[in-house]
Amino acid sequence: MMASIQGIRREDYRPPEYDIVATSLDFHLDADRTEVSAELQMRCRSLEPPESLTLHGENLELLELRLDGQVLAADRYDLVADGLRLRHPPQTFTLSSRVRICPSANTQLSGLYAADGVLLTQCEAEGFRRITYYLDRPDCLAPFTVTLHAAREQYPILLANGNLEATGTDDAGGHWARWRDPFPKPCYLFALVAGKFVVERDHFTTMSGRSVALEVYVAERYRDSCGRALDSLKRAMAWDEQVYGREYDLERYMIVATDSFNMGAMENKGLNIFNTKYVLASPETATDDDYLHVESVIAHEYFHNWSGNRVTLRDWFQLSLKEGLTVFRDQEFSADQNSRGVQRIADVRRLRAAQFPEDAGPLAHPVRPEVYAEINNFYTATVYEKGAEIVRMIHTTLGPARFRAGMDEYFARFDGQAVTIEDFLTALEVGSGCDLQAFRRWYAQAGTPRVVARWHPDPESGSLRLELSQRTPATPGQPTKTAVPIPVRVALFDHAGKRLPLQLDGAHLGEETVLMLSQTRQEWTFTGISGPCVPSLFRGFSAPIILERSDAASAEPFLARHDDDPFSRWENFQALAIRELLGYIREPKQVLPGADLREAVAAVTAQWPEDPAFCAELLTLPSEDYLGEQMEILQVDAIHAAREALRKALGELFGETWMAWYQGLAAPYRLDGLAVGQRRLRQLALSYLLANDRLRWEAIALARLQYAEADNMSERLAAYALLVQDVDHDSEDLIMDFYRTWRHHPLVLDRWFSIQLGRAEPATLHRAANLLVHPDFDWRVPNRVRSVLGAFAANPTVFHAADGSGYRFFGEQLRRLDDINPQTAARLATVLSRWPRLDERRRGHMQEVIAELARKPALSRDLAEVLGRCREAATEAPAHPVRPHSISIHPSGAREMNVDIDTAVKKGLEKAEERCLDAATLAVAELLARKEIGDLGAAAEVFGSDQVAELAGFLSDSMDCKALQDCCAGQHFDAEQAREWELDRDQYRLALSIALVAHKIERERERLGPC
Ligand SMILES: [Zn+2]
Repeated sequence: MMASIQGIRREDYRPPEYDIVATSLDFHLDADRTEVSAELQMRCRSLEPPESLTLHGENLELLELRLDGQVLAADRYDLVADGLRLRHPPQTFTLSSRVRICPSANTQLSGLYAADGVLLTQCEAEGFRRITYYLDRPDCLAPFTVTLHAAREQYPILLANGNLEATGTDDAGGHWARWRDPFPKPCYLFALVAGKFVVERDHFTTMSGRSVALEVYVAERYRDSCGRALDSLKRAMAWDEQVYGREYDLERYMIVATDSFNMGAMENKGLNIFNTKYVLASPETATDDDYLHVESVIAHEYFHNWSGNRVTLRDWFQLSLKEGLTVFRDQEFSADQNSRGVQRIADVRRLRAAQFPEDAGPLAHPVRPEVYAEINNFYTATVYEKGAEIVRMIHTTLGPARFRAGMDEYFARFDGQAVTIEDFLTALEVGSGCDLQAFRRWYAQAGTPRVVARWHPDPESGSLRLELSQRTPATPGQPTKTAVPIPVRVALFDHAGKRLPLQLDGAHLGEETVLMLSQTRQEWTFTGISGPCVPSLFRGFSAPIILERSDAASAEPFLARHDDDPFSRWENFQALAIRELLGYIREPKQVLPGADLREAVAAVTAQWPEDPAFCAELLTLPSEDYLGEQMEILQVDAIHAAREALRKALGELFGETWMAWYQGLAAPYRLDGLAVGQRRLRQLALSYLLANDRLRWEAIALARLQYAEADNMSERLAAYALLVQDVDHDSEDLIMDFYRTWRHHPLVLDRWFSIQLGRAEPATLHRAANLLVHPDFDWRVPNRVRSVLGAFAANPTVFHAADGSGYRFFGEQLRRLDDINPQTAARLATVLSRWPRLDERRRGHMQEVIAELARKPALSRDLAEVLGRCREAATEAPAHPVRPHSISIHPSGAREMNVDIDTAVKKGLEKAEERCLDAATLAVAELLARKEIGDLGAAAEVFGSDQVAELAGFLSDSMDCKALQDCCAGQHFDAEQAREWELDRDQYRLALSIALVAHKIERERERLGPC
């Protein structure tokens, strides 16, 4: 199956041979047969035109083809698989083509399609080739003139990019409109819309005093739900002027909303097309989260006007150049509009929920991938969210002023051009005057770095030594990794919870500073410290890494109560809950919650919540998915049971508080930060009340009352979801009532579909099957499909049912969806990449489903690529080859893995130039091989894996000398850890020995005496 997929490689990039100097398009629109006439002025970039030129085209019926006005003879061109090949094209020419397409048959929703009686387009990434023959690549920029003809009755509104130039009447009830976009753009930013809409208008005066018309086009039934979008748009326009000095450039800015859309929204120049989900908001139909999403997506698409449109991409490998940067920009906008701390927590939550698992599984890829088969599969959390984190780290490193100078340089230098990530970094370097060379590695290397932190206080000298090391695990196709630059935002607290002034190498750094960890291992010594203190690390989540700190057990409870960085406090609070839950999974008899967590929760609940939104974040338990990420092998049922047990325990323990908060936080509906926070915390209180045996019946009555009487969707839906997903409560009457009330509102009805699939019980499978044949289910509407299949796969206990029934059901539906909408099928299929984390039985079931799907006839390229990458990880040798049986040290072939520690220490001490760990590694390898070992690579050969030395480094960082000695003496073996590092028992024991030897060498060298 994989053999049929042709990968496109970044290194194969070649500039286009021709420029398109001007593009003129003429559409005769009709849902069943649209004719597109294109006139392209072509100019060869070199004086010597090539033998042939291929224009992209897909599913087009060619009606006519002319070159410089003359009908092109059949021997001058070929229709090939992916387009049209011109033979011997001249140096400059005008190509005129007329093609026919059928929008109503386009269920892929890529190119021009019909939905809900409207015609509209989606061209990113490669949809334009489904409209006309063209050089469909982002580095081919042209000004567009577009004329749309259609029946006036059915399509009264005709929109395209740019400024409206003229309108007129055609024969027989037709009319036309001509649009001109003066800014050269690649065709992926092309858009047209035709249909019946109502328009909500506003205007914005730019910083140079120009008035821009703002227009939101929606179906009549959504007329009153556009206020939030318009308001967000105006704030985004003002923000981009203030923070980046960027002004809007056309006479009008249009947004069109549709229920049928593969993505969230699309930034087509001057004519955004949005999934209704991210435009519409009214208190009766939208939740508080919906309001926040509308604000951030409207802003995101607007910001693209500069980061994406005015400066665009050279090729699709550079996707993060526009997406990572623009996500960073929209996150910062939202942080400025709302609570910065809560926003950061939400950003990190999203990153960890979607990107960390991606980075740790078979679909791991660098932020700038090197190869793809179908670019639609790379609109990933890695490209978007991790891409944004890279930009954020650069921002942290440069500071706001130098970052802005760099961005000014970027926009000035590359306006109107198609550029690369190197160009971006170069501009930032020139503008800021700082070297960002090392950040290039972040774009090239997949995998989430692990950072180990060790603290060495020295009360006598009043100093504190911080030792940080980093390691990035292997990912598919990238067995070895290099160190990346990691900004570490740090502060120190005294025991009263007060920040201490920082002194480093004699310099006074205030109460917070950023250290740069750019080597594998580095040290800093803070001085002038008079008493005991607790360090706070990676404040604000200053880098997308996983932190392991040696002092976690003592630091986390302290920071969960005292840290003044909201993210950091939340992070440590979560860490307490995670520790409890994982402990409970290991030993379910344990009493929940333990003292640390109980005290932390008590400290929060002891006072009236002045910042309710932040309180709600603190008191929300980690998700089941995130808990699963903390385990080597996912224990679906145990995780669910543990989380429920902790919710119940907290529900019982703080019952009075939850009731007092639930009642005291009730307030009339308003849409401001405080009111939103109050609603959020109130819902959390209600969920704890439902878990409290004594108060449960009262809580159910309150929830039912809230569902019936709330004057806003946030509260109504929260009560509804809590009751419907409570498996001990019969909610069928509510499900019926909700359906009757909202069946005519697609976005709310999507919730009706998805919420009932959140019930953690086997019957949910049956429910899902029934929903797929419900009269309101529609395979052609991606939102609806996701509301069933996406929700189903997000229910861990049902999707991961031990008998494989969840996977099989899901696989059958993907099979069907692939024929209708391959893009959406492929995106949903990415959950199948989780198989390496499953137990043997589930793993077998999931792999069967993957194999079965891969055999499907007429499998799309989209789905084939995702399945192929999932399967490759299974058949390919593991990225870090484990070769436990490939070494033969003794003539007998038996491995002798016992190490004489003292001899190894002696040998290691002879290697005075090596770092302690390297000296230990080499010494142990030499003892085993009974010969000189030249370097660490040769040592890895001896051990059968280069992971042995890596694990040794980790162990020596995270354990002290005494603990290592005990482990070595006691034949200690941690099977879980060994599996994580892909090592067998002997190799694991070797790593322990090396770590101990390294400690002993260090003590000898520093004359500290034996440990
Ligand atoms: Zn975007």
